[in-house]
Amino acid sequence: MTDQTIQKIVIAGGGTAGWMTAAALSHLVARKLDITLIESDAIGTVGVGEATIPTILTINRLLKIPEPEFIRETSATFKLGIQFENWTRPGDRYFHSFGDTGKGCWAGGFHHFWLRARQLGFGGEYGDYCLELKAAQAGKFGLLSDTPINYAYHLDATRYGQYLRKRAESAGVKRLEGMIKAVSRHSDSGYIKQLHLDSDDIIEGDLFIDCTGFKALLSEGSLETGFEDWSHWLPCNRAVAIQSELDGPPPPYTKAIAHKGGWQWRIPLQHRAGNGLVYNSDAYSEDEASQLLLNNIPEKPLADPRPIRFTTGQRKAYWHKNCVAIGLASGFIEPLESTSIHFIQNGIMWLLLMFPEMGIDDATVREYNTKLRTEAEHIRDFIVLHYRLNERTAEPFWDYVRDMPIPDSLAQRMALFKRTGRVFKPQEDVFSENSWVQVMMGQGLMPQGYHNIADAMADTQLDTFLTNIRVGIDQSLGRLPDHQGFLNHLSETR
Ligand SMILES: Cc1cc2nc3c(=O)[nH]c(=O)nc-3n(C[C@H](O)[C@H](O)[C@H](O)COP(=O)(O)OP(=O)(O)OC[C@H]3O[C@@H](n4cnc5c(N)ncnc54)[C@H](O)[C@@H]3O)c2cc1C
Repeated sequence: MTDQTIQKIVIAGGGTAGWMTAAALSHLVARKLDITLIESDAIGTVGVGEATIPTILTINRLLKIPEPEFIRETSATFKLGIQFENWTRPGDRYFHSFGDTGKGCWAGGFHHFWLRARQLGFGGEYGDYCLELKAAQAGKFGLLSDTPINYAYHLDATRYGQYLRKRAESAGVKRLEGMIKAVSRHSDSGYIKQLHLDSDDIIEGDLFIDCTGFKALLSEGSLETGFEDWSHWLPCNRAVAIQSELDGPPPPYTKAIAHKGGWQWRIPLQHRAGNGLVYNSDAYSEDEASQLLLNNIPEKPLADPRPIRFTTGQRKAYWHKNCVAIGLASGFIEPLESTSIHFIQNGIMWLLLMFPEMGIDDATVREYNTKLRTEAEHIRDFIVLHYRLNERTAEPFWDYVRDMPIPDSLAQRMALFKRTGRVFKPQEDVFSENSWVQVMMGQGLMPQGYHNIADAMADTQLDTFLTNIRVGIDQSLGRLPDHQGFLNHLSETR
């Protein structure tokens, strides 16, 4: 605890986490802060992290980022969800869209009504009731004045960093190029006092933000905060990434394709695609993983495969003493649902909401850590769910994740859904009831029952209710332009 007013902020690291933090603190803290960001071109950034979820629109709006400019500068495309291929069994496919599906009511989501219709022998596919899902499959995207569309972006990580840097520097953030070689601390409090650079510059600060990526140079390297390892639930520990050309128009969704020992991502941008394989090191060697990925990319690679190593888990404290870890320095959950950039934003938003105006106090630090830990645990459970529900056979990786003990919190959610069709969204869970429903049913976990509110309608009323939703969606779909056409239109908008 300290009564020292926070004035000098030092951000260590200039990847997506560092520059998002710099842009947000320089624009959204009313008091003018003295912010310095240190990054090393020699080390570079992790260079991946190109798919997002809809919460990114919130920070863009707060930072008053004009959408056409953002799309242009980051070579972004629109994202309506994720297509999962081969997850339940090879050949299977389902879609997790960002949209609402159908119309629910106070007692529960639309799926209760759909489940009753299914029992009665009509109703079609659950996905028929989601505009975003149908638009994604049709390669369409647009903005309709009378029909909200939930979406996110695919973006070029390097260009995104450069764009945020421009905005942060124009708001007064000072950037220092250099390698941090040592961290010194106050002998009494143990708080971080200074960062020592290879240029022999010494940078002092009141509050330090550790955005140094997997190294966690400040929060782990110096403060030894500790790490909670989740590898037993999420055993992937390697990735290989390759950028490739993109043949044809970019689809408005990410693909996640399961393979024998992991899964492959495919992220379409305007000028290229991002590809990667996330896997467990017992399943493939680095060479095998690279070859497998290369064999499964339809277009010409633009560079050599780049290997990345990681351990899934979270830092034991996100905020420790006068250091807040944001981004990969705070922990990592594999990118299956594109949650890391969201989680960076989450760390920043809670920091802004709890900004230590009058000094750092224990209650604030505790509150901050509880919020972030709780959200990270919900994300973890959601990712584990995808693995748990696989029905792939005779593959040690998939057999393990299907049979492993899972967190109690996830076991409870699955049991409740299986028996009753119910999903209750805790406040800190970024994923909606419909997200959980789409993944659970998409991978074959069908509820035995539904909420009795769905019985309030006569069969014919239910049929008309469902038909009207489908007709409305088809009409909206007909009014949407194709995704590439919409991108072209935006590129002409200033
Ligand atoms: C395989 C993989 C796929 C991913 N896919 C997605 C995705 O689709 N969507 C998503 O939201 N997230 C994804 N992520 C996560 C995402 O990449 C990160 O959350 C995001 O890029 C932020 O990284 P960072 O800024 O924390 O770290 P980094 O990009 O590693 O940046 C670290 C910074 O610290 C600096 N630094 C380190 N050491 C020193 C030093 N000694 N001195 C000075 N500077 C130093 C580096 O130069 C760099 O600027 C993925 C991650 C991985 C590993």
